[in-house]
Amino acid sequence: MAFDRVSRLASIPALLLVALLWLVTAGSASAITLLRDPDIENGLEELAFPILRAAGLNPRRVKLLVVDDSSLNAFVLDHNAIFIHSGLIQKVARADILQAVIAHEAAHIANGHIARRIGNFENAQTLSKLGLALSLIAAAAGGGEAAAGIAAGSQSSALRGFLKHTRAEESAADNSAASYLRWSDISLRGLVDLHRTFAGQELLSVGRQDPYMQSHPLTRDRIRNAEAFLQSYGDKAPDNPNAEYWFARVRGKLSAFSRSSKWTLGRAAEEPHRDIRLMREAIAWHRDRNLSRARAAIDGAIALRPEDPFYVELKGQILMEHRQTQSAVATYEQAVDLAPNNALILAGYGRALLSAGQDRAALEVLERARAREYRDLRMLRDLAVAYAKLGNDGMASMVTAERYALQGRPEDALIHAKRAVGALPTGSPGWQRAQDVLLASERSVKRK
Ligand SMILES: [Zn+2]
Repeated sequence: MAFDRVSRLASIPALLLVALLWLVTAGSASAITLLRDPDIENGLEELAFPILRAAGLNPRRVKLLVVDDSSLNAFVLDHNAIFIHSGLIQKVARADILQAVIAHEAAHIANGHIARRIGNFENAQTLSKLGLALSLIAAAAGGGEAAAGIAAGSQSSALRGFLKHTRAEESAADNSAASYLRWSDISLRGLVDLHRTFAGQELLSVGRQDPYMQSHPLTRDRIRNAEAFLQSYGDKAPDNPNAEYWFARVRGKLSAFSRSSKWTLGRAAEEPHRDIRLMREAIAWHRDRNLSRARAAIDGAIALRPEDPFYVELKGQILMEHRQTQSAVATYEQAVDLAPNNALILAGYGRALLSAGQDRAALEVLERARAREYRDLRMLRDLAVAYAKLGNDGMASMVTAERYALQGRPEDALIHAKRAVGALPTGSPGWQRAQDVLLASERSVKRK
């Protein structure tokens, strides 16, 4: 598990992403911390899979990303990702409630609520790709206030305005979500109980509401509608042991890393799934610096699910953090064999290779990780180290520039992009990427 501070708009792809992020000023309050963990993201994908399919979305394209934030919120910024606050995952009591959250956000994507918003700005501009992206957010925030507004983070009316859905969008999203849930054989009781979680908050002042309430205005009509859906379709959904399992696993891993080890060990016996119980205990012992007990527990979990790449990955992390570098390399290698295309597992393997001094192999693996997922700051840091250790300072600077771009730090990005442009062969792919970062960061710095 890794905590990565990235800028709030980090789901938006490629150039657009880079440009948008640079409107966020350095050290900004708007940075969000993404909690990147292959097991947790996989569990959420398992819960989301039938819903995304019912929504007509490609489950392989829509990522489920956890924001390390104890407040209750979920949101989408484009069609590539659904963001869920860890606080919301910990708060909801059942899998079907979390699936209702996912169904509602999937509906915002499928109904084009975000695309339309961005599309409107796009039509108004005929600038180059980067210029367009920069002006996009400026338009969203009302011209020159863009940088300041977004930098102020979730408290800013600019960003709140960008995220906030209209009542019409909310009721359309609820209707679609109810259909997706029904087609997926998931009880509509989840949608009703999701609304009940926030009921009454419409009477609170904005400052006291959960951010979910602010981005998804709840009305009595919405609650009544959800109850009517449940009434008319009935509550005949079959038990779903698969969803219950992944829900318990996601929450189990999240709590084992965020709560005290004492809390985790004290509640281990309540966990009915034996492998999840062992995984939670392994993390608790690991955090207590007890390698032998941690190892015994994770080995127990792996014995119960020998084909599970995520338990092997966790073992690799435990070994790495206890400086058992050679064993960590071998363990991550097994995890990669079980899940050769998982970017976060590849990144862990690359990190282990790097600390074992196998720099060339590390570089190759980390580039494979980057090709699959660029929103991983720790991987970008490791990749820059690998390039530097192999004497390729130009590429090290280029990757560092991209990392600062993701973090919304244009001054730092500019320094490294200039260095990369000077060092890399003119016209080469790396030079081109550095050039893109350089131009966009110059514009962003000038706007401040
Ligand atoms: Zn909504």
